[in-house]
Amino acid sequence: EERLAAFFGLGRAAAVGSGTDALVLALRALGLEPGHKVAVTSLSFVASASAIVLAGGVPVFVDPTPGHLLAREDMILDLVRSGRVDGVVAVHLYGQMAELEEIYGQARKRGLFVIEDAAQALGATRNGYAPGRFSDATCLSFDPTKVIGAQGSGGMVLSNDQKLIETVKRLRYHGHAGNRVYTEIGHNSQLATVQAALIKVKMDHEQAWRERRQQIAARYDQALNDLAFASALPVRPGNTHIRHKYVIDVPQGRDDLAAHLKAQGVGVSVHYSMPLFEQPCLRGRCEVYGDASEVKRAVSRVLSLPIYPELTDLEVDAVCRALAEFEA
Ligand SMILES: *Cc1c(COP(=O)(O)O)cnc(C)c1O
Repeated sequence: EERLAAFFGLGRAAAVGSGTDALVLALRALGLEPGHKVAVTSLSFVASASAIVLAGGVPVFVDPTPGHLLAREDMILDLVRSGRVDGVVAVHLYGQMAELEEIYGQARKRGLFVIEDAAQALGATRNGYAPGRFSDATCLSFDPTKVIGAQGSGGMVLSNDQKLIETVKRLRYHGHAGNRVYTEIGHNSQLATVQAALIKVKMDHEQAWRERRQQIAARYDQALNDLAFASALPVRPGNTHIRHKYVIDVPQGRDDLAAHLKAQGVGVSVHYSMPLFEQPCLRGRCEVYGDASEVKRAVSRVLSLPIYPELTDLEVDAVCRALAEFEA
């Protein structure tokens, strides 16, 4: 907890059982009540929204921005300014950060909370700041698929607000306030000591692994420059992208390209294949703000290329060759 708090430049942290639990406990600790509405992007991993439902709230989905596919800030600001939501879950999608300075300023004025879902953004910065600068709480995941993964699930809530972190620490263990007195109905969501030890060791490699991911991304960027049928999603000016995922935009024939790459032995996948409001678990439990036109377009165009620090240059070149061989 101290290691991660220092890494993010935040005062306190509470380790929990998963990134999902980090979101649920942060929402509860920030006072989310049944029926409260929370703005969140419609293009993310399901947990960004299901955590809101688990905590008793109602996700209000906003569309992503064409290009980088982070949530539309103008839509979140509309919802915050008009009082149509009680808080915001801001997702730092694919490894680069959303812009939160104005959103957090407007939310604070109105007593609304802002939580950062930084499950995909450990190591990312925006204008020199790590996640946590413009929010009440930042949530991490140590799922094995994330850049720093435990041997199984893990998560963390970080904040400068000591009281908030104390509440999360009670909620992660039955609402225990000491001496077998339980002040809230809590969860049992702990991070095993052995997992914490593993994460601590992995944090020593965070920079080297991040730089290797960025090297691989630069090779992909170059290969894509020569291709007409696909392009890399842009990195937003001011952002350091940690390349948790390397997502390309394929305006036509995404599924054919995916099949071609798989046939060449390249492990590709789609993040994400459905707007969150269409997921069966969320239907009827959420609201959609606006016409959602961009997310509907994006889900048929995005494709994730393999990226992890252990990929060799030869393997990356093989992916680039397989891409170049595809006839759109
Ligand atoms: C992985 C992830 C989560 C959930 O984390 P778990 O540790 O798998 O529970 C939440 N939000 C985003 C954006 C994620 O990528």
